[in-house]
Amino acid sequence: MSEQDGMSKVIEGYRHFSEEIFPEHRELFDELRDQQNPQVLFITCADSRIDPSLITHTVPGELFICRNIGNIIPAYGEMMGGVSAVVEYAVIGLKVTEIIVCGHSDCGAMKALQNPETPVLAAMPTVKKWLRNAEAALGVVRATDPEASGDHLLRALTEENVLLQLQHLRTHPGVAAGLATGKVRLHGWIYSIGEGRVDAFDEATRQFRPIEEVVADSDKPLGNSQHPTELTSALPSKAG
Ligand code: ZN
Repeated sequence: MSEQDGMSKVIEGYRHFSEEIFPEHRELFDELRDQQNPQVLFITCADSRIDPSLITHTVPGELFICRNIGNIIPAYGEMMGGVSAVVEYAVIGLKVTEIIVCGHSDCGAMKALQNPETPVLAAMPTVKKWLRNAEAALGVVRATDPEASGDHLLRALTEENVLLQLQHLRTHPGVAAGLATGKVRLHGWIYSIGEGRVDAFDEATRQFRPIEEVVADSDKPLGNSQHPTELTSALPSKAG
């Protein structure tokens, strides 16, 4: 696909949105015109293959989303930038109750993290510096599973990175306060692109397991149990 094709597709897609999707869901957009009340902060990688709204079957207004290379949340005070501001705004301003950190299969950031001296990274000093916020995950995997290599190492690192970023989240004052008062819950997810599957971190077994099993084993369902049905059914069909 040429550069021009990429842009034409986006413009054509917008035309479809404005002529078909928007009029069909005018009521939803009217509701959202001057307010938002999301209950979930969804933090994931910038990877183009992840579509948070698609995999959670949610519509505009339901997910507050933060995306970056490697679904990283720098520890509080480490890098006071965009991610810290999103977390603060979500927890204190919007009062979200659930925070999901979602890693994924075949993550380029997790691959790069294994080889920080690779020539590719030398040309990307910003990415290289950013990935330092995930370095402890590599340290944990190397220490606990020294033989790990290939796909097994990549998966272990992806899981460990999600856990590390959840740990970083806990250092943010708004999150720490929310956790202490039971107003905020944290969730670690791994999305497997080729399988369309989400595994969630299970506190009880300290392992990532298929989310259906984790939810079934826990008392409370993950996420928002009072989904207004007219909203969940509003997701436009990709084929349309
Ligand atoms: Zn990624």
